[in-house]
Amino acid sequence: MAEFLSSEAILARLVSFDTVSSKSNLDLIAWVDSYLGSHGIRSQRITDPLAAKASLFATIGPEGAGGICLSGHSDVVPVEGQAWTSDPFTLTRRGDKLFGRGSADMKGYIAVCLAKMVANKATALTTPVHLVISYDEETTCEGILPTIARFGHDLPKPRAVLVGEPSLMKVANGHKSAVGYFTCFKGREAHSSKPSDGANTIVAGAMLVAEIERLAAQFRERADATSPFDPPFTTLHVGVFKGGVARNIVPLDTMVNWEIRALPGLDMQAVVDSLCTHANRVILPYLTATAPESAITHERQFWLNGLAPEKDSFAEALALRCSGGNHTIVVPYGSEAGQFQAAGISTIICGPGDIAQAHKPDEWIAVSELRTCEAFLDRLFEGCRAGL
Ligand SMILES: [Zn+2]
Repeated sequence: MAEFLSSEAILARLVSFDTVSSKSNLDLIAWVDSYLGSHGIRSQRITDPLAAKASLFATIGPEGAGGICLSGHSDVVPVEGQAWTSDPFTLTRRGDKLFGRGSADMKGYIAVCLAKMVANKATALTTPVHLVISYDEETTCEGILPTIARFGHDLPKPRAVLVGEPSLMKVANGHKSAVGYFTCFKGREAHSSKPSDGANTIVAGAMLVAEIERLAAQFRERADATSPFDPPFTTLHVGVFKGGVARNIVPLDTMVNWEIRALPGLDMQAVVDSLCTHANRVILPYLTATAPESAITHERQFWLNGLAPEKDSFAEALALRCSGGNHTIVVPYGSEAGQFQAAGISTIICGPGDIAQAHKPDEWIAVSELRTCEAFLDRLFEGCRAGL
């Protein structure tokens, strides 16, 4: 006789797997696979090219295209250097709060989805409900892409995706797009008494930072006060600047790690191209004037598609109906939602817990949030029985 676990019991199991993004998530996926399998729910693994991680795609209800897809990521951020009151990988209840890494972001949502998939397995759905669990969301947001690539081929392409990132169960229809780059400068070392014998890469890096700041100021000036985003403009930011060895050596290497967070709809690639062109036309000649072997290289760290608000979209109307809400919000963080939307699928974000608790020591989710999410999914399954 297969076991029926509560949302809390499932969450305790999910939290017990240390699925920090740098590690394998296969143990968690195997457990979910076998739990669903014990209830007769079919699921498929989509393994990453190195076979160290996998996504899982499960379906209940009729076969065929369409359906509603519930989406969550299995990976979590690291706990190193954080002061936790209890073991981050043991779900611990104190009052109305469940503490554990990933409890809010976003194993709580996955736990409720699993409990409700199992509870509704035997009911007569006319619309299929899918669950997809991904990896590498916290690092590149690209772990979902191999699954999306199979939609419409050997996996059904959903009509709508509900991404359960923590939003306190409010319906979010937008977030910014983002891109991160490492720019590396190679110049020539020299004794600091003769700076003109070398090619100073710290100066070159500073020239890039100045150009990034110039573009950032342009976007700031063009702020759209009616935009729901905070801040209501595209931002550029430099987070890491590393270069040089000692004061009396002209620095050979410098690295700048920078990002853009763009309003949905902005051509982010054009901004990247303009910075790369500036590096080639203005900064590189400064270095090659004394050291022809100098080089500037740009390595993309990640690319995140934005989620552009689509007023009254199918997913938005559905989520508002299930949540009982009457307005939407936008969220300040990135998610896989933009990747689904880029594949032409109506997508929103709505999940239990508060992003304010995510990524921090003593991450927690309120038990009441799990209950609210359960009620949301109950209404969704009702709709999937009645025909959406
Ligand atoms: Zn998340």
